[in-house]
Amino acid sequence: MIIHRPKIKEAYEVLCLPARIRIGMGLGYAIEIADPEGKFTPLIQLLDGAHDLREIITELNGLLTEQEIQEGVQLLLEEGYLEDAAVPAPSIFSEQELQRYHVNLNYFSTLCKGFESKYSYQEKLKKTHVVLLGLGGIGSNVCMALAELGIGHITAVDFDRVELRNLNRQVLYSTKTVGQLKTEVARRHIADFNPDIVFEAVNHRIQSLEEVRNILDTHPCDIVVHVADRPMGFIDNWVNEACIERRLPLFSGAVGKQNGFIYSVIPGETACYNCKVLQETEAAPHLTEEIEFIRTHGISDRNSALGPACMFSAYMLSYEILRYHLKIAPLITYNRTLVIDFMTFQQEYYHFEKQDTCPVCNKVEKIPEVS
Ligand SMILES: [Zn+2]
Repeated sequence: MIIHRPKIKEAYEVLCLPARIRIGMGLGYAIEIADPEGKFTPLIQLLDGAHDLREIITELNGLLTEQEIQEGVQLLLEEGYLEDAAVPAPSIFSEQELQRYHVNLNYFSTLCKGFESKYSYQEKLKKTHVVLLGLGGIGSNVCMALAELGIGHITAVDFDRVELRNLNRQVLYSTKTVGQLKTEVARRHIADFNPDIVFEAVNHRIQSLEEVRNILDTHPCDIVVHVADRPMGFIDNWVNEACIERRLPLFSGAVGKQNGFIYSVIPGETACYNCKVLQETEAAPHLTEEIEFIRTHGISDRNSALGPACMFSAYMLSYEILRYHLKIAPLITYNRTLVIDFMTFQQEYYHFEKQDTCPVCNKVEKIPEVS
């Protein structure tokens, strides 16, 4: 392939300093080019996407040879600092979406080398359908993060109405929406925030495994985010089992008094939630008694979650979804729960393994690769 109108990616600042050129600031992604005679500075300045390669070669005649220019451009392209301004954006995106996701695209461009397309990441997000179970403290923040990222289709499930006491942490709602259905308020909020997203509101109180199955069957999705907390002692198991059966990746998390945690289940690959419970109850048999008590007495969590705690956990969870779905980094929660202590920001990991005795996940095949 040939680069037509080379452009230094917008994500990188260009500093033409005495005797050196710095591309990109910060520790993570800067390179420096020694330029004691100052002859590469004009080349770098012409890599603005407005000039084609032939014009650049003509412009710099006498200062740099064609070979020097070609080699310089090739190096910057291979190292991931250049893109071709002549390549149009895919027609799947409207002009409005390109502006909305401009900074996302800048970020994605930093993941690309050579001729890899920054648009492919955003396109994948646009074609993704997430089912979000729970629009409470974590759920409303996850919902916002998904809408910011440009997830094209969100189905959100909740049954509650907005209460004033929710407003210390549930960012989708406001004082004037108190008393209204959360799903309906969320639908309006997301329609205002990002009208390019398909948002389905399902007002339903989940009360059985069969109902989770039904939601997933009537809303075929790519990813499930489970942040609903009722009925406690049941819903985690139901969602886990329904996701395992349908081979849907599951991301979950919760906030306690001092800490928050997130975990994921990738059917056919990682241990499932039930494996985690089996392992935990084997190590601490008294937990079985506690789970049984919670189930038979209908105990629910006494909520003491702060806004920043919910936001923190939600955004950790959203980043984990991004890592997994776009394959930009390994899962941090692969066979382990990540726990963060809000007082110290100390992170701890609780490892769990696939259990041979787990009746839920034992016969499930790996999720097929889809690009
Ligand atoms: Zn299992």
